[in-house]
Amino acid sequence: MGRRFGQHFLASPSILERIAVAANPAEEPVDLIVEIGPGKGALTEHLLKRAQRIVAIEIDPVMVHYLAHRFREQPRLTVLNQDVLKVDLGTFGPCTVVGNLPYYITSPILDRVFASGDSWNSAVFLVQKEVAERVAAAPGSRDYGYLSVQTQLFAKPEVLFQVSKTAFRPPPKVESAVFRLTPRTPPVSEVKSFLDFASACFRHKRKTLRNNLLERYEKTAVDALPEASTRAEQLSIEQLANIWRSLSNHHIATSHRDHE
Ligand code: SAM
Repeated sequence: MGRRFGQHFLASPSILERIAVAANPAEEPVDLIVEIGPGKGALTEHLLKRAQRIVAIEIDPVMVHYLAHRFREQPRLTVLNQDVLKVDLGTFGPCTVVGNLPYYITSPILDRVFASGDSWNSAVFLVQKEVAERVAAAPGSRDYGYLSVQTQLFAKPEVLFQVSKTAFRPPPKVESAVFRLTPRTPPVSEVKSFLDFASACFRHKRKTLRNNLLERYEKTAVDALPEASTRAEQLSIEQLANIWRSLSNHHIATSHRDHE
């Protein structure tokens, strides 16, 4: 079966249990876990001990069929045969989101979680190790970039532990890691506009902030920034947000830009 839908199944009971404990470390089960990509249900089995109810979203009808049989006597599990990228995760109500994710769509899945507003209480994901490091990176570190800013705008990330290739069948090409996200209130009012600004700041990683921003903002305003000659990778979310605010009235008019 191999690579279809990023299917690498976890075959290590101890890793599965560690992910389930990370999802809910308490003695008491949480009300609801939404599992992304249950596959054959290896993680689902462990999660069932830690939640009253599980909604599992799986794109592959073959897996859904398998799960329906495996858990036919389990009324606390609902399997939805859907593409997680088309599901509004906000509709399930307060939940913990968990998954051994299909790595090729990690970023769009994070977008969906953040777009679901304040309906999620916590998220625990197994992803490619480099992605976990980027998600949790601090300003000034090698891995800090747009993904770090986007994630840390909505959540506090913690990398919990690494998972070796040998824990999977078939093994992926890359090493993996588990991280947890705890939601936080974004420190800016217009999240979309700020993220659009942040993505411009990181567009050309080796360029200074000044050179990345001149396309969009008036030269005098950009030159006046104390941070003009630094790179976005040095700046915290709070610093980026202050710059975004200070430039808000200095956009280059679109027509002007078109004629340049
Ligand atoms: N949870 C299982 C485990 O740990 O053994 C399987 C994990 S496997 C890395 C990823 C799972 O996500 C696969 O079952 C795959 O079919 C499913 N998947 C891939 N793309 C998906 C999508 N867009 N929506 C929902 N599930 C998806």
